[in-house]
Amino acid sequence: MKPYLKRAWAEISLPVLKKNIRIIRSMCKENTEIMAVVKADAYGHGDTHVVKFLYNKCGVKYFAVSNLDEAITVRENAPDADILILGYTPPEYAHESSEYNIIQGVTSYEYACLLSQNTPSVLRCHIKIDTGMGRIGLRYDTPEKCADEIVKIIQDNKKLSIEGIYTHFAAADSLNPDDIAYTDRQEKFILDTYKILAQKGFNLPHVHFMNSASLCYRNTPESTLARAGIIMYGLHPDTSLPLPAGIKPVMSLKSVISHVKDVKKGDCISYGRTFIAPHPMKIASVTIGYADGYSRLLSSKADILVHGKRCRITGRVCMDQLMIDVSDVPDVKTGDVVTLIGSEGCETVTADDLAGIYGTIGYEVVCGISKRVPRIYID
Ligand SMILES: *Cc1c(COP(=O)(O)O)cnc(C)c1O
Repeated sequence: MKPYLKRAWAEISLPVLKKNIRIIRSMCKENTEIMAVVKADAYGHGDTHVVKFLYNKCGVKYFAVSNLDEAITVRENAPDADILILGYTPPEYAHESSEYNIIQGVTSYEYACLLSQNTPSVLRCHIKIDTGMGRIGLRYDTPEKCADEIVKIIQDNKKLSIEGIYTHFAAADSLNPDDIAYTDRQEKFILDTYKILAQKGFNLPHVHFMNSASLCYRNTPESTLARAGIIMYGLHPDTSLPLPAGIKPVMSLKSVISHVKDVKKGDCISYGRTFIAPHPMKIASVTIGYADGYSRLLSSKADILVHGKRCRITGRVCMDQLMIDVSDVPDVKTGDVVTLIGSEGCETVTADDLAGIYGTIGYEVVCGISKRVPRIYID
């Protein structure tokens, strides 16, 4: 395969990433370190390059991932970083996590024992507490009971080095008073558990619960780590609320025009004849489709930027191609570059905008840009 075929590609702006990190750091307390969340191939931005850049050029020393494969990729690019696996790793791989000096999230007493049985040497761990997300982690009615269980995990599993506890907020992206109260209770639960552990003589280095939403919308004084995901990539935790000043999207999505033609009134465009030209038009074909992660749900709904002008998709998005109305854009020709996500002149289309059109979140849009789309890193 050609190393970089100019058909459809994602541009990743490293200066924008660096600036976002600087802004996030300025929003954190002095004793809070950024833990860059780089799961899912750095939210579709390419984990190898992103990790290397964050580690070497932005001073990021903590990373979070979803699984062991991702953790090993981070280790290969950030030799001395602390790497936390947020989710489940089958216990039979515990020895490998230990070998790569990776930190495993521990979600129950039983799981802790299995990890311990499967590692020949010390395995570093953070204990996950379910304070209200309802996903994974220790779930107890009171911080006292939770702390007792954590002490039991520590005492019964000498091969596990328990370095922290953490939890995940369910609704920190909401300013609804009920949601705020709910998040307050989640935060209080983990901080109380942490204090009780300290009173019992277990002074763990880390307690963390900040995600992008809590970074943006809450004062979170006592989290030792800020697990920054979507905000680092410049997208909204919630599109109804503004982003912190200066945060910008890191990824742009580009493609090229392969064909331009004039059509008559009544001519049909694309599968299913869902688009019938209401008048004579100029139609351009673009070399990107749903197999590139540009959703078919955007058919006839999204705009693509051509020479700085918005052009509406005409008819269905195909697997590898789509068509747009370029009637109002002079001098469009084969080979012209178009922008599906990003800015041209004064026009911008964001991943959040596309998400809004088909009822999902920006996270899913950027994670969904497929492997076929090369990531090009812009210095
Ligand atoms: C994905 C994830 C994050 C990051 O969430 P963002 O909303 O992208 O900041 C933080 N913590 C946990 C446990 C996660 O799974």
